[in-house]
Amino acid sequence: MRDFISGKTRVLGVVGYPIEHSLSPLMHNAAIARLDLDYVYLPFLVAPESLAVALAGFGVMGVVGFNVTIPHKQAILPMLTEVSPVAAAVGAVNTVLRKDEGWLGTNTDVEGFVAPLLGRDWSGTVAVILGNGGAARAVVAGCCQLGCAEIYVVGRNQGKLAAFSQGWDSLVSERLRVCVWDQLSSLIPQATLLVNATDVGMGKNIGQSPIGFEEMRLLPDGAIAYDLIYNPSPTKFLQLATERGLRAIDGAEMLVQQGAAALKLWLQLPTVPVDVMRQALQSHLG
Ligand code: NAP
Repeated sequence: MRDFISGKTRVLGVVGYPIEHSLSPLMHNAAIARLDLDYVYLPFLVAPESLAVALAGFGVMGVVGFNVTIPHKQAILPMLTEVSPVAAAVGAVNTVLRKDEGWLGTNTDVEGFVAPLLGRDWSGTVAVILGNGGAARAVVAGCCQLGCAEIYVVGRNQGKLAAFSQGWDSLVSERLRVCVWDQLSSLIPQATLLVNATDVGMGKNIGQSPIGFEEMRLLPDGAIAYDLIYNPSPTKFLQLATERGLRAIDGAEMLVQQGAAALKLWLQLPTVPVDVMRQALQSHLG
């Protein structure tokens, strides 16, 4: 964001409910300031029943694009004129771009998730994902993109797990298995990648880990423990992984990279200042 808003300032933003916690305005406005562009990125508190009205309002007001967060990531799908293949595969949208004929929805969470894992050969590996919510869907698509041979999603509700396993293309569905928590200790010894995609470790669950040290100990040497949570960092889950001698990755880089991918799309730029976005986030999180 520039020092002043002019009559020509173009608007980007994020819709969610709640939205007060979002760090996206911080990251995006830092990058926009570095690029010295006449844009501003704003938080929009939009209740679920008002999403369609908000979208129509953005249309007439000339909003260039926006991010979508909880609880709208799936609900917005039928309101869009076009959905990218990756968003269709994940079944959720986190980034929307204005087009002449309406709105294009895509999903940059997958790119964000994958970014810290690039540079290693993942073919033939096993990934175990804890949790079966919206973020777990992006993680499954990311693990598939990386080339993991087997992808296990672990949840606590059979009905939700059954729903989770539906609607994937064959590339994903032939590698994806859903399991209940009781099966976890038999899966962990094979896992090269263990992802926490639950919210255990943050908010009211701060200081807790979805698995204990005994289970963490079962991971093979050289495995990676990846927690999508970025605040606090490290979480208890990552503390246990470090104690076990494993590589621990928190969710901050995913947040930065999904944001950078969205900003490139809105501004139609080949690169954006990712380091500025990362620095803004790190300064805020301390
Ligand atoms: P969500 O849709 O609400 O899903 C949360 C999942 O956690 C559900 O599967 C839920 O199980 C499970 N869960 C919650 N408490 C649990 C417990 N005590 N034991 C076992 N499972 C439990 O949320 P989401 O959008 O997927 O987000 C998940 C996490 O990822 C959050 O911490 C979020 O902050 C993080 N995230 C990070 C980024 C990033 O850029 N770094 C992006 C997106 C999300 P049930 O379905 O059985 O309730």
